[in-house]
Amino acid sequence: MEKIDFNCIFCAIAAKRAPATIVYESADAMAFLDIHPVVEGHLLVIPKKHSRNLFDLDDESGRAVIHASRVAARALRVAFNADGLTVLQSNERAGGQDVFHYHAHLAPRFVGDGLMSRDGNDRRMRWHAGATPSREELEQVAAKIRAQIQDD
Ligand code: 5GP
Ligand code: ZN
Repeated sequence: MEKIDFNCIFCAIAAKRAPATIVYESADAMAFLDIHPVVEGHLLVIPKKHSRNLFDLDDESGRAVIHASRVAARALRVAFNADGLTVLQSNERAGGQDVFHYHAHLAPRFVGDGLMSRDGNDRRMRWHAGATPSREELEQVAAKIRAQIQDD
C-alpha cells in the first residue's frame, strides 16, 4: 500500500487531488512549478510517495527524484537558456523546511542574478519570491518547459 497523507498538500498534488502546474511526471516522482517562484521556471521535484524529508526518503523514491530532477534540469536549461541551476532541499524547520513532504527546489540561474552569490568565503542567498503569478501565467511558463522535456 502506498503511504498517502491527504493532510499533506504535496501528497494531494501527487494524487491529482489538488491543482498544480505539472511539467513532468514519472511513476514515482513529479516536477511542478512553485506557486511563489524566486525566478521564472522555479520547480519543485517530489516523490509521489510521502516522505517527510531526506531523513526518511527511501532509495526508490530517491532514484525517482534524481531522474525527474535531471530531466527537468535539462529542460529548464534549454527553455530559459540558463547559465546554470541551483538545487535547494531543506530538512526540518531548522533547515528551512516549510512543507513537510520531501521536495527539491530547482532554480534556473543566470550569471550575475544574485540569487546565490559569493563574497570571498561568504555565500549570500537572496531567495526571495516576487509577485505571485496567476495560474494562467504559471501555465505559460510550464508550456515552455514541457516543450523541452526529453525523458531518456
Ligand atoms: P520549503 O521552504 O519547504 O523548502 O519550500 C516550500 C515551497 O513550497 C515554497 O517555495 C512554497 O512557495 C511552495 N508551495 C507551498 N504550497 C504550495 C502549493 O500548494 N503548490 C505549489 N506549487 N507550491 C507550494
Ligand atoms: Zn505528502
